[in-house]
Amino acid sequence: MSFATRTAHLKPEGAYQVLARANQLEDGGKEIIHLEIGQPDFDTLENVSQAGIDAIRSGKTRYTPPAGMSSLREVLAEDAGQRRGIKIHPDQVIVSPGGKPNLFFPTLALVEPGDEVIYPNPGFPTYEAMIKVAGGVPVAVPLVEENNFSFDLNTFDELINERTKLIILNSPSNPTGGVIPSDDLKHIASQSEQYGCWVMSDELYTRIVYDELEVPSIATLPGMRERTIIVDGYSKTYAMTGWRLGFGIMPRDLAARVGLLLTHSVGSTAHFTQIAGIEAVTGPQDMVSAMVTEYQLRRDVIVDGLNTIPGFTCQKPQGAFYAFPNITGTGMGSVELANLILEEAGVALLPGNSFGQYGEGYLRLSYANSIENIEKGIARIRTAIK
Ligand code: PLP
Repeated sequence: MSFATRTAHLKPEGAYQVLARANQLEDGGKEIIHLEIGQPDFDTLENVSQAGIDAIRSGKTRYTPPAGMSSLREVLAEDAGQRRGIKIHPDQVIVSPGGKPNLFFPTLALVEPGDEVIYPNPGFPTYEAMIKVAGGVPVAVPLVEENNFSFDLNTFDELINERTKLIILNSPSNPTGGVIPSDDLKHIASQSEQYGCWVMSDELYTRIVYDELEVPSIATLPGMRERTIIVDGYSKTYAMTGWRLGFGIMPRDLAARVGLLLTHSVGSTAHFTQIAGIEAVTGPQDMVSAMVTEYQLRRDVIVDGLNTIPGFTCQKPQGAFYAFPNITGTGMGSVELANLILEEAGVALLPGNSFGQYGEGYLRLSYANSIENIEKGIARIRTAIK
């Protein structure tokens, strides 16, 4: 069978492949500790679930406008604007089933075949996939450990040029947990202005940050609102991965074009999910800070533990819920080591290079799991490595 070449490069996400092998081992009776999947282990808040259930019971099970219910777009414009200190009009907000369509569709709307798109590497695998589907040329900029996993700005300066159409940023980052400092953002903003390119700022983890750190959005810098797409969502902040709810914030003309792409693809986001989304944003927010406090405890346990394993060194991530240890001291490649750890120690985690070539030499461990399991996992890895 022959398929369109625009899809020939697509690969599954590493996390799903590792999960499949881990499930096979579990079926064979092995006990596996799951540190591979990037989703909160907390339940959706009771009031939010109840709002969704009530919505279904009261017949909120219809199509809605493709860009989202106006009541949700208003609430999001207010909340997202207030959190970032910028003014957002509801027309600029595009609601989607998860954050992913708000990565994919603005890219389709902006990138012409042959346009270059700068993206972080190691980075979320969807970036490279969507750039290629759009016919763009992916231009990887390494995130460097010595720089707290922010962009290597020298390489960035060498790679940006007149053909660059879009720059993708992700702070805090999946898979490194790194946060881009304000000075770097200023530099990237001024370069994007000079070369007239767009910036897509993936802020899915913006509320999962530690040590009272503030994560600035590039959209708040002078002149950037007209050229930035903010992508955010409910999956991580509100532990709602399966509800499928996310949103983008962008200039109105682009929002209208992305709305058309939604019209002709997904149609709309589930009606009752959007109503639950209004409750999540307008209801109590203590659960978000409670989750972050818990993640911070787990972060400290996992980083300290990883640093006791021979050949591993691990920086403290500033956000998200991933540890990204450097494993070059083991003398093994990341795929070989991840496989060994899964098969011998029964701990599922991801090789760094499933996030791009510059992820080689690292592993990604998600600490969206209990402290007990994290401690057990670390002990088992230490034994396997010995
Ligand atoms: N962006 C990043 C960096 C992510 O890690 C994820 C999910 O893992 C997403 C976007 C998409 O999340 P969702 O579509 O569930 O909102």
